[in-house]
Amino acid sequence: MSKKLEGKVAVVTGASKGIGSSIAVHMAAEGASVVVNYATSKDGADRVVNEIISKGGKAVAVKADVSKPAEIEGLFNETKKAFGKVDILVNNAGIYEFSPLVEMTPEHFHKQFDLNVLGLLMASKEAVKHFGNNGGNIINISSVVATLAPPNASVYSATKAAVNAITRSLAQELGPNKIRVNSINPGMVETEGVKSSGIGESEMRKQIEAQTPLGRIGQPDDIAPMAVFLASADSKWITGESFYISGGMR
Ligand code: NAP
Repeated sequence: MSKKLEGKVAVVTGASKGIGSSIAVHMAAEGASVVVNYATSKDGADRVVNEIISKGGKAVAVKADVSKPAEIEGLFNETKKAFGKVDILVNNAGIYEFSPLVEMTPEHFHKQFDLNVLGLLMASKEAVKHFGNNGGNIINISSVVATLAPPNASVYSATKAAVNAITRSLAQELGPNKIRVNSINPGMVETEGVKSSGIGESEMRKQIEAQTPLGRIGQPDDIAPMAVFLASADSKWITGESFYISGGMR
């Protein structure tokens, strides 16, 4: 059977660890040439690239801080240099920080909005410039918090609600150019980011597990197959949708 992403070139932002790294590995296994973007973790990005290459796939690591519009152009120029074109953008790079309203600062707001929303928009703008006549595919990693909106997460939840609104709006704007735009709303996933923030072993994790029909939090490879599906022709008549991949939690 032929691979689902054979001949495609995918840029995955924030792919040096967590959900992004799993998406990069799964897309490469389906034949895509993958750009593994990172901001600081060169070792992590190199590990992902080596894993892909050791399995016979194609990948390069490209450093770019997606919260800085000036660095996004370079990310796509490097992609063109390495693989000649761009077909798929996975807007995965994102940060999550929690704060009660009384302790909130403009920095807390701007840090998350600059990456999760502005970075996603600017990366999409740049990708669209590079997509060819056959169109392209944008997959945004949102979150269940876009609608669940738990306490102490007003800013993070707002960034992800914005991601879902952007997904819907861009799908309509870009559909005539054969560009599909969808989002994935994961539930809590055990990633490096979740572990280092302490929420991996918190009371919150226990509460989430208790409220999740499938009774556990997710792993990165629970999310990646959905990204492959959305990038492939299997989903060719799907655009503007947000998919909850969360063990039934919402
Ligand atoms: P993670 O383990 O913290 O990894 C984050 C990735 O993003 C790393 O590769 C990191 O690279 C990269 N990154 C951070 N800032 C960046 C920047 N300014 N420019 C480019 N790359 C940057 O994260 P994760 O838990 O896998 O989350 C990934 C996405 O899923 C995020 O959008 C998050 O909001 C969403 N999400 C996560 C969960 C969850 O429970 N884990 C649930 C729902 C949604 P460096 O290490 O090089 O900085």
